[in-house]
Amino acid sequence: MHIDIITCLPGLLTGPLTESIVKRALDKNLVSIDIHDLREYATDKHRTTDDYAFGGGAGMVMMIEPIDRCISKLKSVRTYDEIIFMSPDGNLLDQPLANQLSLSKNLILLCGHYKGVDERVREHLVSREISIGNYVLSGGELPAAVLCDAVIRLLPGVLGDESSALTDSFQDGMVSPPVYTRPADYKGWGVPPVLLSGHQAKIEAWKEEQAEARTRKRRPGMIG
Ligand code: SAH
Repeated sequence: MHIDIITCLPGLLTGPLTESIVKRALDKNLVSIDIHDLREYATDKHRTTDDYAFGGGAGMVMMIEPIDRCISKLKSVRTYDEIIFMSPDGNLLDQPLANQLSLSKNLILLCGHYKGVDERVREHLVSREISIGNYVLSGGELPAAVLCDAVIRLLPGVLGDESSALTDSFQDGMVSPPVYTRPADYKGWGVPPVLLSGHQAKIEAWKEEQAEARTRKRRPGMIG
């Protein structure tokens, strides 16, 4: 998989995309990510990428031209499954959407800033809009990093234990059961004895029962 991220603040992306699971996936060449600084696609010497909103109102608006130039250049090299604009009013990112996107070959993620992008970008240049939740962040970089993480950890070979992503919350319509590790007793707080029993069938049954109970309590909408 290849992901191109278009941003006017590339520095915001370096941390989340250069550590942990995403770093491992990059190192193993299971994914490649290129970050494109929108300022390099500006047309003036001040490298302007935003301007005042027509009709007035607070906040700057990202201009269409640098974005169009950047996307056009990328499209001259690759064919994209989706060109995604990160937007608070887009489709909410959830596990089924992450699963679906993980099957893509090439993706573009466009990060907005300020008041957002000129509406014509949304009308003509992107294929999809994705939100990471009903709250407003200052820019699309953190949402893009969240999307990258959610998608990349699903790629075959990324997680050490192949089955691990499948047993995470939401994958089978359930949240995860509780997990414990040593010590078995901490300040008198114990661990469910079944987990220490060594009886694998009983342990699996317990996990399933716990996952279901927890899902009913925390995400009742997920169970029909
Ligand atoms: N005025 C806009 C918010 C702009 S926030 C509005 O009210 O909808 C600036 C940018 O941050 C957005 O263009 C988007 O790219 C990004 N952003 C903010 N919150 C987001 C969220 N919850 N999910 C995805 N992107 C978000």
